[in-house]
Amino acid sequence: MLLKDRVCVITGAASARGIGKATARLFAAQGGRVAILDLDAGQAEAASRDIGPGHLGLACDVTDKAACRAAAEEVIGRLGRIDVLVNNAGITQPLKIMEIEAANYEAVMDVNLRGTLYMSQAVIPALRAQRSGSIVCMSSVSAQRGGGIFGGPHYSAAKGGVLGLQKAMARELGPDGIRVNAVTPGLIQTDITGGKLTDALKAEISKGIPLGRLGVADDVANACLFLASDLSSYITGAVIDVNGGMLI
Ligand code: NAD
Repeated sequence: MLLKDRVCVITGAASARGIGKATARLFAAQGGRVAILDLDAGQAEAASRDIGPGHLGLACDVTDKAACRAAAEEVIGRLGRIDVLVNNAGITQPLKIMEIEAANYEAVMDVNLRGTLYMSQAVIPALRAQRSGSIVCMSSVSAQRGGGIFGGPHYSAAKGGVLGLQKAMARELGPDGIRVNAVTPGLIQTDITGGKLTDALKAEISKGIPLGRLGVADDVANACLFLASDLSSYITGAVIDVNGGMLI
């Protein structure tokens, strides 16, 4: 039980086939008490019931600073503390550079980057007070290679921003006993990607991946578990690629 009695907050974890939900299920199986935060209260509650009793599902739009603070307070009120935050909520838009309008830029930056900042700010006081905690930030291979099939350039920029923010937080919060790491998934079959991939496209993409397959949500959840747990107690500011070797 790597997360026995640890209270773990995971944003964007209501989507049935998503990375956040797989992470929530794995954390619960490892003894964690999980708070699933997502846009819709009903979906978040249903997702929390799905992973077992004693967990929490709350509505929280991560682009809203007051909502992030209120959600963190509710988690502490109902589950007693916070030990782990996984900043997983994210959106993509498959646009080319000249297609990006102000509203596109704002939406993608807001959820991926501003949301990571606001949700981290919401939990940091509690983590500081107990002098321990682990924050995991979801970036993307798109940040490292400047694009992918589904995210546009503004998504690459937002996920690159997540890495800068993660490292700055790791540096500032290390002395407080708080670790901040990131995961950079490659192409993972979820609702963001899944429906749009034909078998022919999957086979073509797999040729460029040394491990010969696309990722599944559990591949990313396993990296999150490592970073959330004491197995990584001397690791902060790190970035773990979960991409089948795509960047070699
Ligand atoms: P998903 O669409 O299945 O899940 C994203 C979740 O975020 C959804 O449940 C959605 O409701 C929630 N969300 C969106 N806006 C929100 C907001 N403002 N506040 C709170 N929740 C919000 O996607 P996924 O593929 O599981 O992606 C999870 C994370 O992994 C994202 O940050 C994504 O950018 C990243 N990622 C995914 C892949 C991939 O191939 N699937 C690759 C690299 C990185």
